[in-house]
Amino acid sequence: MNLHAPDRILNFLGGSFREPISGMWMDNMNPATGDVYSQTPDSDAQDVDFAVGAAQAAFPKWSNTPAEERFRILNHIAELIENNLEALALAETNDNGKPLWLSKRVDIPRAASNFRFFATGILHSSTESHSMEGRAINYTLRQPIGVVGCISPWNLPLYLFTWKIAPALAAGNCVVAKPSEVTPMTAYLLSIICKEAGLPAGVLNILHGGGPKCGSAIVAHPGIKAISFTGSTRAGREIAAVAAPQFKKISLELGGKNPNLIFSDCDWDKMMRTTLQSSFSNQGQICLCGSRILVEESIYEKFKEEFVARASKLTVGDPLDENSRQGAVVSRLHFEKVMSMIAQAKQEGGKLLLGGEAVHPAGRCAGGLFIQPTIFEGLNEHCRTNMEEIFGPVVTLQSFRTEEEALMLANTSYYGLSATIWTQDVSRAHRMAAQVHSGIIWVNCWLLRDLRTPFGGFKNSGIGREGGWDALRFFTEPKNVCVEL
Ligand code: NAD
Repeated sequence: MNLHAPDRILNFLGGSFREPISGMWMDNMNPATGDVYSQTPDSDAQDVDFAVGAAQAAFPKWSNTPAEERFRILNHIAELIENNLEALALAETNDNGKPLWLSKRVDIPRAASNFRFFATGILHSSTESHSMEGRAINYTLRQPIGVVGCISPWNLPLYLFTWKIAPALAAGNCVVAKPSEVTPMTAYLLSIICKEAGLPAGVLNILHGGGPKCGSAIVAHPGIKAISFTGSTRAGREIAAVAAPQFKKISLELGGKNPNLIFSDCDWDKMMRTTLQSSFSNQGQICLCGSRILVEESIYEKFKEEFVARASKLTVGDPLDENSRQGAVVSRLHFEKVMSMIAQAKQEGGKLLLGGEAVHPAGRCAGGLFIQPTIFEGLNEHCRTNMEEIFGPVVTLQSFRTEEEALMLANTSYYGLSATIWTQDVSRAHRMAAQVHSGIIWVNCWLLRDLRTPFGGFKNSGIGREGGWDALRFFTEPKNVCVEL
């Protein structure tokens, strides 16, 4: 296989590569250079209808394909992703702006793991039975739902796209999937891989297009029985409103505004290293990034001094350069949003400790969209900067005196995706973990992921959980069979 990024991305529908029916296209830009380097379909409801038809036609056979055969094909997809790591990583970096080393080490390997994890998972799955003491036996069948929709964002493009598609396919569903229009390239390359791996026509249909036209048509289509969505809370709310009257199953993985709670008894070096990562990895564009850093008052000044000094040394520049710690943010629209939120933080009285400006590298990336790592202090917990998701390389520092105050600050949020707690006191770690209102708590670590664990958020961070059996349960309907003895 020789995977390379084409000038024109095509939809993958019913096993064939197709142009959008309307003939409309969108520009695809490399955010590190500012250059438009390909065109992507601007698909609409007609393309969605075609995709649903292809998926419906494929469903009877795929849903009856033995688990061993589904395993074989999905595992083959994982192998082909691994075999094409270099090409996929380069495509991801050119689309997204993230450092190439990050695409190679994290994004693409994880996409392969997602397929392998769920492919092997279905070989080990079992269902419950409930015996009524000699009178009857109940057993639960878990059957695929039918045609399901998977919609993903731009921050971890292939990683999150496959995190949905793999369990949906493994469970025996046929899929209509849409990656973000901002980062469509690796999803297109995945469609070539799936064809090569022998995935039957129509089992996975990949559509390219924008949210309002293509994404919303997927959500509204009566032939699509469940929606797995990762993206903004705004879009999640719209999807919930459309899906609810049709009683579609929905799984919504939405925004975050995650707190880091740092106590004075933490392992200082590990905390400092990890907090830099949790603040600025992927230019702060990870839903799990800790953007509200809460520090115990007795170590606040020491923390501030060292954190600012270390963050000031993060090299921002060409994502293809091994030495760049930070690449470009994903798009001009997003660049402008982050810069406007930096301006807002200043208006709200925030004291800028570091950054706050665009970066203009020389050479190839002169037209790129780069932002300095940015740190503010002096903002209260209720201000917009501390309440709204920025999703860029911007963090705020706040101090606390007691556990109660730390909890109050941590839980003053519309969001509840993740939190990180730094303390060597085991009792305190458990106490805090139990009381922080977030679906994912890390103690003395960050982004340590076991794919078997439930993944998702409280409050405006979403509905439902992904990962492990939670994902396979979401993509199946339980059916109880009661047999009187
Ligand atoms: P977005 O909501 O703008 O778009 C996400 C996807 O939804 C895209 O494919 C888009 O085309 C589509 N879309 C947009 N509006 C739609 C609609 N009305 N109906 C159907 N589809 C629609 O989000 P984004 O800017 O691509 O991603 C950033 C957001 O994603 C952040 O809020 C971030 O926190 C969140 N996110 C959450 C998680 C998580 O696991 N909780 C992971 C990554 C990103």
